[in-house]
Amino acid sequence: MMDTPIAAMQPRRTLVLHRSSRLAPPMAVGGHGVWLVEQGGREVLDASGGAAVSCLGHQHPRIVAAIQAQAGKLCYAHTSFFTSEPAEALADELVGDAPGGLCQAYFVSGGSEAVEAALKLARQYFVEIGQTQRSHIVARRQSYHGNTLGALAAGGNAWRRAPYAPLLSPAFSHVSPAFAYREQRADEDEAGFVARLAAELEAEFQRLGPDTVAAFIAEPVVGATAGCVTAPAGYFQAVRAICDRHGALLILDEVMSGMGRTGTRHAWEQEGVAPNIQAVAKGLGGGYQPIGAVLVSERIVAAIEAGSGAFQHGHTYLAHPIACAAALEVQRVIREDRLLDNVIAMGGRLEEKLVERFGNHRHVGDIRGRGLFRAIELVADRATRDPFDPALQLNARIRKEAFARGLACYPSGGTADGRCGDHVLLAPPYIVSPAEVDLIVDRLGEAVDAAIASLR
Ligand code: PMP
Repeated sequence: MMDTPIAAMQPRRTLVLHRSSRLAPPMAVGGHGVWLVEQGGREVLDASGGAAVSCLGHQHPRIVAAIQAQAGKLCYAHTSFFTSEPAEALADELVGDAPGGLCQAYFVSGGSEAVEAALKLARQYFVEIGQTQRSHIVARRQSYHGNTLGALAAGGNAWRRAPYAPLLSPAFSHVSPAFAYREQRADEDEAGFVARLAAELEAEFQRLGPDTVAAFIAEPVVGATAGCVTAPAGYFQAVRAICDRHGALLILDEVMSGMGRTGTRHAWEQEGVAPNIQAVAKGLGGGYQPIGAVLVSERIVAAIEAGSGAFQHGHTYLAHPIACAAALEVQRVIREDRLLDNVIAMGGRLEEKLVERFGNHRHVGDIRGRGLFRAIELVADRATRDPFDPALQLNARIRKEAFARGLACYPSGGTADGRCGDHVLLAPPYIVSPAEVDLIVDRLGEAVDAAIASLR
């Protein structure tokens, strides 16, 4: 049988299992900078880097060359027998200076795997030190930690959890998110809001029995579930203090918000706390290869070394040499090209332009985020903050209108309980230019207006 030329194939055989919308997606055949190229040649501005993945944009020549060079040397060696040069160099790049006391890196294939490993490490730590009663994990509603069963059990996204509820472990429980726009009361200032959230977390520890809690897990800036929600000042310090008081670990999930997305390599640097265990992925490899990592603090490494001697976990593709080589080059480019300066500068411009375009928009209730991680939340009524009826699928309409205008952004639906409205997440590559930022906001403005007009 003759091979079908790739360009002539229809993506039909992947649709049911892979599609993310009911529309048959066009074929992506190329990319450059912040642009993706469709079959036929149309260019689409990648305003969210997929799901906050493509931090260097597409087809960066240094990353492509690093992948090719590693492929020419060594493609694979199982971690039971070997480590590899790119894995060790990437670990040096990430934890060589022990940021926040994180001193070892464990490389996996993506975000969900990183979260699974983080949860199991927390549990193994307590087994190693003889506190085997610690088996509860406290997380937050309106969080997303991944789609594998442990990560899904940690997450608070009701829609994602619903079909699998019987498979999700009761070891996980959830407290309120630190989501000021929806959760802060009118008669409460920021400090009061933080105090109330801290009291709720403390009460949850007490309900479970404080010496049975292994860890609290949270995203420093909430990504997919509510759209770039930053925590109120002092929140993470309060959380850290509660974990410390009760001997529990703090796991921060920076799969989406980390690796420079908010203007510092780690989002926690802006919160004044460091985690015991951290999950990273997306911006680690920038989409050039599937890779995630767990960064682990000295205390946990020491306990495992003194105990069983190894993390009781593993996957076939741990620390894949080509993935590590790609991620290493991504991180070097970010550092050498001083791209975090651009994240801060272009993040400021993006915020300004969003406020200019949507600040007085009758259906935009909130504009939020940090660095190049920004979102708008749509509301039916600004005064009451009532979201649109989720059945209207406003987010899907925005996605369609934006795509028709050559803009790929990341709209998500509101929650059925009305505690979050439809929102649009923007996470452009760190190389984005001022003109491209302006184009993103122009096209998004038109798309939002057209989508809302289509409701009538
Ligand atoms: N944690 C967070 C905070 C995420 O945003 C995601 C992905 N959106 C994940 C975990 C899961 O990552 P992956 O899709 O790579 O498994």
